[in-house]
Amino acid sequence: MRIGIIGGGLAGLSAADVLCKDHDITIFERADHLGGLAASFDFNGVSVPRYYHHVFDHDFITQKFLERFDCPVKDFKRITMSMLANNKEYAFTKPTGLLTFDYLSLYERFRYGLFGAYVFSLMNPGKISESLNARTWLNKVAGKGVTNKVFYELYARNKFGIPLEQISAKQFAHRLKAKEFLGTFGFPENGLDKFINNFSQSLLERGVTIHKNSSIISLRDKTIQTDKESYDFDIVINTAPVPAFLQFSRDIPDSYRAQLAKVKYCPVVSVIIKTKEFISDFYWHNVLREDAQMIVQHSWLHDKYPDKVTWVSRYGGAGDDFKLTDDEIKEKYIETLKKYYPNVEVLDSVVYRQPFASPIYDVNYPNVMPKEESPLPWLFNAGIATTYPKIRNMNTALESGIKTAKIIRSKIEKGSV
Ligand SMILES: Cc1cc2nc3c(=O)[nH]c(=O)nc-3n(C[C@H](O)[C@H](O)[C@H](O)COP(=O)(O)OP(=O)(O)OC[C@H]3O[C@@H](n4cnc5c(N)ncnc54)[C@H](O)[C@@H]3O)c2cc1C
Repeated sequence: MRIGIIGGGLAGLSAADVLCKDHDITIFERADHLGGLAASFDFNGVSVPRYYHHVFDHDFITQKFLERFDCPVKDFKRITMSMLANNKEYAFTKPTGLLTFDYLSLYERFRYGLFGAYVFSLMNPGKISESLNARTWLNKVAGKGVTNKVFYELYARNKFGIPLEQISAKQFAHRLKAKEFLGTFGFPENGLDKFINNFSQSLLERGVTIHKNSSIISLRDKTIQTDKESYDFDIVINTAPVPAFLQFSRDIPDSYRAQLAKVKYCPVVSVIIKTKEFISDFYWHNVLREDAQMIVQHSWLHDKYPDKVTWVSRYGGAGDDFKLTDDEIKEKYIETLKKYYPNVEVLDSVVYRQPFASPIYDVNYPNVMPKEESPLPWLFNAGIATTYPKIRNMNTALESGIKTAKIIRSKIEKGSV
């Protein structure tokens, strides 16, 4: 079968990996590089991911791929975490950090502590009603003060830029129960760039055709038209973000188009900075009530560059910063950084922006998300739009490519495609 894969991110690569043994695979990637959201860039001679990336100890699929392509994670660490609020840095690595968290009143700290104990012991996300929203649930179990000052800030404003009322309580509770921040984190010794290069090299050696710099401008009845040429396929897999897909797809049923039009994405803007010294003792910093919402010290996990590398990023509301120039973004984000760490000396910085950083998992998402199979027998989906309720990361992206490829393989075997 001739199979066209739209998008050379991790989902596109892993789908090709499964299917290339028996089929004729072509990958189309709009950018001049592969890897999508997990791609790297050359930061003055050093390859650095465009956006912070770490591997969790339980990301088994990511680890398997990294090992296979000579980029294993050798060292997993427990991370240090802080909250930055009201011009103060609060250590949040241990539960005792809560005692000194005077951003909350004493009563609110007590409620927060009780809520934490409940999450780790009695809470059963499976028993939370599908129709309950996170605001109503959190007001009840954590109190209004904690909900407004912490959970609204972290999950509604910072994470997705939507109200807590639009987030599902069940999904939110599942995330809390996963306790990811208590696990260990790592980064591939040889870098993500080498992983993606080795992966794509292996695909090329196995006969996959890869067209970079090839933006799809139309997909109509199994024919992919790029800005350069037109190609006919038996099967097409889309891994591009849903809004991009809607722009280039020409003959999908109206009801499917209307469904997918309801899928919303959160953008991200990141300033990657280089400093001589570490900026703090923490890997992860949640910044409350600022536009620059997250500071992640990459070198704390992977100290292999001549200088220290840190991301200062914004998800929720980041679309507002798209109208700013790179210099304006640098100035704004670095100003927030310096509010907390005035002695930081930034040696160099680069800005990356991405309108489709993550689908927004609002209460309606399960009803509108694309499934692996589409209403058209020859069209399939893979990638982070399809992985809910699993969160979007490299692991779920790789897994989704494999899952879609296996569905296709089984359909071909049964002669139903
Ligand atoms: C800020 C940020 C931090 C993250 N941190 C982590 C982390 O710490 N750990 C982790 O595991 N994961 C992390 N992730 C998530 C991880 O990067 C993604 O889940 C994964 O890379 C998604 O892969 P994908 O193939 O599904 O999608 P994408 O990477 O989005 O790939 C889709 C591809 O389609 C291409 N495309 C789009 N339109 C067209 C078109 N018209 N024609 C041709 N091609 C097109 C795009 O250029 C892109 O390459 C992070 C992501 C972001 C944004």
